[in-house]
Order: sequence, then C-alpha cells, then structure tokens
Amino acid sequence: MNLIQKIKEASRPFLIAGPCSAESPEQVMSVAKKLAASGKTQLLRAGIWKPRTRPNSFEGMGDIALPWLVEAGRETGLPVTTEIANRNHTELALKAGVDVLWIGARTTVNPFAIQEIADVLKGVDIPVMIKNPVNPDLDLWIGAFERLEKAGVRDLSAIHRGFSIYKHPKYRNVANWEIPIALRERLPNIPIICDPSHISGNRDLLLEVSQKAMDLNFDGLMIETHPTPEKAWSDAAQQLTPEALNILLNQLVLRTNDSSYLEHKELHDSRMKIAQLDDKLFDFLTERMQLAEKVGLFKREHNITILQQEHWTKSITARLSKSEEYNLSERFIRQFMDAIHQESIRHQTKVMNNRQ
Ligand code: PEP
Ligand code: MN
Repeated sequence: MNLIQKIKEASRPFLIAGPCSAESPEQVMSVAKKLAASGKTQLLRAGIWKPRTRPNSFEGMGDIALPWLVEAGRETGLPVTTEIANRNHTELALKAGVDVLWIGARTTVNPFAIQEIADVLKGVDIPVMIKNPVNPDLDLWIGAFERLEKAGVRDLSAIHRGFSIYKHPKYRNVANWEIPIALRERLPNIPIICDPSHISGNRDLLLEVSQKAMDLNFDGLMIETHPTPEKAWSDAAQQLTPEALNILLNQLVLRTNDSSYLEHKELHDSRMKIAQLDDKLFDFLTERMQLAEKVGLFKREHNITILQQEHWTKSITARLSKSEEYNLSERFIRQFMDAIHQESIRHQTKVMNNRQ
C-alpha cells in the first residue's frame, strides 16, 4: 500500500486507532470491528512488543500476537500497523503480513537500532512511520528518516508523540510543537500524524491536544483505543473506547487550510501591522544590545563578572509579576527573557574579550 498517498487523499484527520497493546485475539478483534463499523479509522494499530520504562510492566504478548492483528485487519478490511524496534521484530512483522511499520520513540533515539531496521528493509516496499525520539532533538529524528531513505524506503511518515520530561504539570510528555513544525519545514513532503495519547497520557486531555494538532494542520491522529480502557494492560489512563473516540472526533473543529483566504484585506492589513511591530521589536532589541555592550565595557573596566545573578533575578521577577497585565504567560515571559539574556551575554562576552 502507499500510505503517503492514502493520507493525502483522506479527509483530515487520517485516523490510526487501536489498542496500546494486543492483549488477546478477542480484544484486538472486538476493537477492530467497532472501529471499522464507524468508518473513520483508516489504519489499525496494536503494540506487539512494548518498550516499557520499568521491567515489571507488561512488555507485550510478543510474536504470538502478530496473527491476531493481521487477522483483525483481514476480517475488517483495515490495513494494520505495529511497532518494531529491532531486526527480529522487523523480520517477524514482515513475515506476518503487517501492512505498515512504525518505529517507536525509544528506538528513534538509537542510530544503531535504526540502521539495523533500515538494513532489514533494504529492497522491501513497505510504509514506515517514525515517531519522534524521546528527547527533543530534531536532527536525530531527521537522521532516522535519512537512514531509511538511504536504504530505499520511500513511503515515510512522521508521528509526533511529545518528548520526555521530568514532571510536566499537565501532560505525560511535553509537546514542543515547534519541533514537528520545524520537521515540516525541513521535510515538507512527509505527512505528520499527532499521537495525543502519548502526549497527554490522559484520556480527558485528548480532545484539546487533537484540536491543537488539527489547528496546526497536522495530517492525522493516532489515538489508542481499547474495549475496556480502565482494564488495559498498558497505558490504561490514556486509552478510549471506540464509542468515546467517535464522540471526540465529532467534537473536533476542522478548519480549512485554503490559502485563498490569505488575500483577504482584513487579514492582510493585520499582518502588515504585525510585520511593522516585529520590525520595531527588532529595532528595540538592537538598541538594547548596544546598551548591554556599554554595560559590558563597564564590567570589563572594573573587572566584574558578566553575570550578576541578583540583578538578573530581579529583572526577570519584575517581568514575571506583570504577566497578567501584559496578558502573556509566565512560560513565555521566561523563555523570551532567557533568550534576550543569552544574547546579551554573547554581546558582553565579545566586548569583554576584545583586548586590543
Ligand atoms: C505506543 O505507541 O504504544 C508507544 C510505545 O509509543 P511511544 O514510542 O510513543 O512511546
Ligand atoms: Mn501506549
């Protein structure tokens, strides 16, 4: 099958659904039948080998579950996909007749594992979806695409599943939407699927993450679906029943990406004004950096360090306390101030070390 073409031809979102893990033939078949009946799912997923963080979690049923997935696909007419992480998985999945392979986040981080998979796939005509690596590294993600492309695998798609973080206040993983957006810039022809299940880790948050992905013009969604989610052997908190999945899909607001609207006068005028403000913002930044250099000269003359922690803490705290007044999030203020500060340090370092 040609997955890229299918994704491009489907009405958004191209939907991949199915359980986190295949648990029994009945579980896979019952969820597949319900998904097929509603007509929205285009690709059936189920994990056969599960890369779990801790060793005592359920690690998947292994090879014996491959025919359960393939059989559920045949019975319902849905193509099927599973995660592969090494040579053995890849060979077994190909032999079993799995239609599409996906590479998980814990595998994308490892170029040896990716190369091993690419070597098995040399000369094999099968679509592969590559999840982002667990760490927010765009080049590592792109490297996996390049390894597979070099092996001749042409039908490649991306899955954005968020990035590991220690204690996110809300989600299981941090979305870092700018990374899939940057991937799209670098590899414009690769479809991008969002996996809100692994980003949020919580079924109550699936709608907001899915909506965001649609608003960012992602091509599709991969959502974990289980007949009895609370009893699932893996990722119980984030799975949905097929019925709840239908409700979620009906609640999604799908907006157009029609570029003819870009000519609209009102939009054009606002964008012009924004561009002028951005120009001003950069003029201010230039002026600010000139002052930072002046301060740098003073520090050099008096032999004091570039970083004056107390002063910096004071300036950032002052800005953060005005977050409501500015109507800007504290997170944004911090990131923006950190970026300005880094640039300021760069300018001062240049001035400090200019000894002629
Ligand atoms: C999964 O899809 O079940 C999975 C293990 O995903 P990830 O590689 O994103 O953790
Ligand atoms: Mn899962």
